[in-house]
Amino acid sequence: MNRLHDYAALAGPEVIGQLHRLAEKLGARRFVHINSTRSGGGVAEILSRAVPLLNQLGLETNWEVIYGDQEFFEVTKAFHNALQGFKVNLPQVMLDHYREVNRENARRFTWEADFVLVHDPQPACLIEEMRGRAKCWIWRCHIDVSRPNPQVWRFLRDVVRQYDASVFSMSQFAQNLPHPQYLIRPSIDPFSEKNRDLTPEEIQAVLDRLEIKRDKPIILQVSRFDSFKDPVGVIQAFRLVRRHAPCKLVLAGGEATDDPEGPRILAEVMEAANGEPDIQVLLLPSDAHHEVNALQRAADIIVQKSTREGFGLTVTEAMWKGKPVIGGAAGGIVLQLQDYNTGFLVHSPEGCAFRIRYLLHRPELARRMGQLAREFVRQHFLITRHIRDYLTLVTLVDNPGSRIIEL
Ligand code: UDP
Repeated sequence: MNRLHDYAALAGPEVIGQLHRLAEKLGARRFVHINSTRSGGGVAEILSRAVPLLNQLGLETNWEVIYGDQEFFEVTKAFHNALQGFKVNLPQVMLDHYREVNRENARRFTWEADFVLVHDPQPACLIEEMRGRAKCWIWRCHIDVSRPNPQVWRFLRDVVRQYDASVFSMSQFAQNLPHPQYLIRPSIDPFSEKNRDLTPEEIQAVLDRLEIKRDKPIILQVSRFDSFKDPVGVIQAFRLVRRHAPCKLVLAGGEATDDPEGPRILAEVMEAANGEPDIQVLLLPSDAHHEVNALQRAADIIVQKSTREGFGLTVTEAMWKGKPVIGGAAGGIVLQLQDYNTGFLVHSPEGCAFRIRYLLHRPELARRMGQLAREFVRQHFLITRHIRDYLTLVTLVDNPGSRIIEL
């Protein structure tokens, strides 16, 4: 793990100074983060990097994970889908199971804390069992809840309203809740195995191992096999491009233990790919950070054609690697890709195909776009900024009713 002062070279020394000042003000407090998986997906990615850095700042921070059976994760994936706008059917028996699994986890936990940050809906119900174990409960929603299914949101809202505050990734996700809501953008860690610089030999070694030839430009999408990531739409776009320009498509995806839908979506992708040699579908283990890093660095164009997206760390990761990124105009992707500047936003497979061709024919523009993208991430989406926002939030929540808070 890198030391905090290593980040000064990228984020600026003043940012590191601010972090130490904020942490000193908070003093000897205990923090607990809770989510539902240690690996796979953006939340685990962020926590695995942020928790050690918070401890380096002298803040006693633990990361707890709830356990659940297949049925539990089917309910929570249905929540996820419904909150992102799908119509789902959630009978009472499933909602009862969701509550029961949270209750079982609460019985297992022994910690006490000053601040608890509960990530996403899976562990949200813990508050009903454990309220007294922490002074302050904050719900951190990473999902695109711009247009939630009203019935499911009503159920979840009754749980979330018990919290002292909630955090969303952008203003479009804010909800009607009886407590303060804060907006914090996620981030990437430039020194993680996912994002650190790689040598050309390291990149080539991964391509050799995965049997990817660099005989044509590589178009890449990295994401869980999830319908909101629209991998089938990416294949459609690729087929449109391929009529006019030689290129190959790599769809790299892994599994997350809290996402039971992966195999079904993967099967749809395989059917759409139809054995075509220029479409490579890679099923990677959830800790294949080095491989994802190398793939992102080897790609010529990176796509994240999501139709709903909380933030889209894969977009930030690709931008940090100086790549031109084409993203679906959804959720947090629009915070990152300023159309024509730090990337391209698209609304359809046809639009995506048009932009892929546009970039393939303009390598100089693609290079400049990648440079702007990297600088944009440096300024806005590094983990140091994220931790500063988080410590500021905790300071604010810790001083309810104060008219002046000196940061
Ligand atoms: N990821 C990975 N392997 C995969 C697919 C995704 O390591 O096969 C990582 C990806 O690099 C990113 C995170 O998982 O760090 C996904 O975060 P994002 O916000 O893009 O999407 P989420 O899965 O949280 O919806």
